[in-house]
Amino acid sequence: MVASFERALAAGLQQRAEQQLYRRRLTVTSAPGAEVDVDGRRCINFCSNDYLGHASHPKLAEAATLAAKRFGVGSGASHLVCGHSSEHHALEEELAALTGRPRALLFSTGYMANLGAISALLTKGDFVFEDKLNHASLIDGGLLSGARFQRFLHNDVAALERRLARSDDEGRKLVAVDGVFSMDGDIAPLTELTELCARHDACLMVDDAHGLGVLGERGGGCAEHFELNTAQLPILMGGLGKGLGSSGAFIAGSEALIETLVQFARSYIYTTAMPPMVAAASRASIALLASEAWRRQHLNSMIERFRHGAEQLGLPLMASSTPIQPLLIGDAGRAMAYSGALMERGIWVGAIRPPTVAAGSARLRITLSASHSTEQVDRLLSVLADVSLLDRRGGLSYD
Ligand SMILES: *Cc1c(COP(=O)(O)O)cnc(C)c1O
Repeated sequence: MVASFERALAAGLQQRAEQQLYRRRLTVTSAPGAEVDVDGRRCINFCSNDYLGHASHPKLAEAATLAAKRFGVGSGASHLVCGHSSEHHALEEELAALTGRPRALLFSTGYMANLGAISALLTKGDFVFEDKLNHASLIDGGLLSGARFQRFLHNDVAALERRLARSDDEGRKLVAVDGVFSMDGDIAPLTELTELCARHDACLMVDDAHGLGVLGERGGGCAEHFELNTAQLPILMGGLGKGLGSSGAFIAGSEALIETLVQFARSYIYTTAMPPMVAAASRASIALLASEAWRRQHLNSMIERFRHGAEQLGLPLMASSTPIQPLLIGDAGRAMAYSGALMERGIWVGAIRPPTVAAGSARLRITLSASHSTEQVDRLLSVLADVSLLDRRGGLSYD
């Protein structure tokens, strides 16, 4: 690299560090689960999105192993060339059934699903309306599409209505939101949004990365939770790497929607299909939603236990009923100090800082899982009590 380029990179990195925003990776040397080995020590994990504990479930590993023996590892090509296997196809049919949609289309990641779908459906002259707290992939998809991009205040249906009313009738209108907001854990007001979209001839898209497997009686996600059919919620994106403990994502909707994506979504067309063994693991995970429904019940009781305990301790809980239970800290350095102090006591909770969240709203993003025991949640609460007491006494050092 030329020296001037290298110097500019170094300056950018130094600034990042001075702002307490430098990111570092910790290396995990065990399977994902309630307890993991990280950087040489065992700790209780409260930062994974593996909400049901499926990621290390033997049924998923077994399905993947069997599929690897039959199909090999790599898919060999994109779906449209020769990479679309019977495992992918069966998974798409099962995802359509799970979400109550006519069809579903697999993407290799959720990021690619959002990017590909929005940019295939909209173009210059169209409109895209997005919640301020939407996931980066929805934002990036909207920007890539070239449509006129408008963000509205978080979960503020009236603010969205004003924007919809102001946009002229020419061009398509897409409203895109997270179903469960990834850093706050709250749920979008989807019933109100479907009614608003119907009144303004706008199409609703929901990213259910954090709801699938978790919300709904059968784990069908936010569409099941709010009982929204395809006409009400035409574009449903779901993730397979979080609650389902596998990897990949999909868009579910009408025949015309799916065929449009097959023809025009560039992140679907120009990429290698996910390994068939990964699709097989996702299928095993879907089967577990029915055969081990106790996982959702246990998860919900862990969420209740945590919220009850945190309330009694006076911790800064946010308004969330999902497995994402952030504690608002504010200052980025202070959030890092909390996270470090928790880690020293054997509890792993990530500090989420800007630009992932707004300046001044750094937080501990605690996530609960069906793999946690009551003892582990109680341990989290008692360590949080110790560390916040330490902080109040000025014993937690940060800049
Ligand atoms: C994680 C996430 C994605 C991206 O999914 P990947 O499969 O990890 O690329 C998209 N949307 C939301 C809301 C997410 O939390």
